[in-house]
Amino acid sequence: MDQFAICNLTQSKVAWPIIGNRAICRGKDAVNSLHGAPPKITVGDQRYRLDRWLRLPQSVVPQFEKEYGAERVAHLRKTVLLGLLLYNCYNLVDHILLPDIGWIAPALRSLVLTSAGFLIFLTAGHVDAVWRERSVLFGCIVGVVIIVALFSVSTAPDSIHTIGEVGLAVIFANMVAVLRFPHAVVYTAIAFLSSCAAFFIRQDIPSGLSLALLLQVFTACAYSLYGNYLSERRRALDYLMTLSAKQRAERAETEGLKLRDLARRDALTGLPNRRALDDTFRDWFQGPDPVTIMMVDLDHFKEFNDRFGHQAGDECLRQIGQVLQAATSDEGMFAARYGGEEFAVVIRNVERNAAQRFAHALVCAVESMAIEHPCGPGGVVTVSVGLAFRDKNDSVAEVLAAADRALYWAKYRGRNRFEITSEPVVFEEAVVQGRAIRDALTG
Ligand code: GH3
Ligand code: MG
Ligand code: MG
Repeated sequence: MDQFAICNLTQSKVAWPIIGNRAICRGKDAVNSLHGAPPKITVGDQRYRLDRWLRLPQSVVPQFEKEYGAERVAHLRKTVLLGLLLYNCYNLVDHILLPDIGWIAPALRSLVLTSAGFLIFLTAGHVDAVWRERSVLFGCIVGVVIIVALFSVSTAPDSIHTIGEVGLAVIFANMVAVLRFPHAVVYTAIAFLSSCAAFFIRQDIPSGLSLALLLQVFTACAYSLYGNYLSERRRALDYLMTLSAKQRAERAETEGLKLRDLARRDALTGLPNRRALDDTFRDWFQGPDPVTIMMVDLDHFKEFNDRFGHQAGDECLRQIGQVLQAATSDEGMFAARYGGEEFAVVIRNVERNAAQRFAHALVCAVESMAIEHPCGPGGVVTVSVGLAFRDKNDSVAEVLAAADRALYWAKYRGRNRFEITSEPVVFEEAVVQGRAIRDALTG
């Protein structure tokens, strides 16, 4: 039955990572095993074993109450009503078996216990869990003490039969209302000891009969208390195992997200890498939205490395990465390390003029960082930017190629600048012009 319930639970949480399900399945045997010490369960950072009173760790009590408090209140309200109804039916039994007591029995049952029961019914949802459970314990104790008291004071010959109600009362408290286990222990002890006292008071009952009836009361107490223990143990273990599995699943999910994020970041600059860039391209090129791509390339960076070493080069790349990261923090903007000393910036839904202003600002921002570079334009590290706009349904490859051509055009035109080209011919022209200049220089 429980195995079935737990399997259902694992099936209903199909979205949980395997580790979560495995945790539940591993705990299944322990939960179903009703004997021996409860298993150790990891809750939060601690390994926890239920104590002999089956108390939940203090750290999870508020969470448990949040999840199951309302259910418990509904259960208690139903059982209180049922209990009161049947308890009051015994007015008829008292009328037949305890005629000498007269109005005392209905007064105690109908006025005292029924009023207390209704009070518990009304307040169950408004007091905290501790007082709610204490009030139910109190109600159950009053109920059983009334039964025992009526039995003790009656001298009617048939009154002996009413002691059987004690057994019914403990079954109600331990198995139907399911008192919390420590309360069930207290309650059962009171029920049994008060029954012993009642038989002591009733000297008119032969001792053999008293012993037989007390044994019956004791049996009802023992059975119902053991039943209460099993059900409380299962409740506590089920909750802890499920909580532990949920926590493992959440941790695994967080770890998974961290790893996924790491796999999509460039280790040197912390910017998204090519994989993340490709994903962004795929998403943003799905619809007809205008997209701008900028290829950003550091100028004469080989010479920078040659002059200052690769470590200084790495630090320079990191700083440029930070500038790009800060510049593209808004929604619809994305910067990634494309490879080597090249970066890509992608902007969605932006006007061409605004994109050009952005490119210009980027070039100026890098220049104003004033990172010394003897071979750079102006003696500092600079970047060149190639800009391309997506026209209608241009593919990623087409816009990237256009941005690349624009970048080469920017390099050709002196670096530390941005250029736009959507026409391959412009690049061809540049190459032709470049060749002409070179030819002129070399004679
Ligand atoms: P241009 O202005 O034409 O772009 O010249 P450039 O020197 O920047 O271009 P080139 O392609 O000749 O050289 C790129 C250099 O970038 C070569 C390499 O040493 C450097 N580089 C690429 N990746 C890294 C990196 O991760 N760290 C460092 N320190 N340098 C890198
Ligand atoms: Mg390059
Ligand atoms: Mg370069």
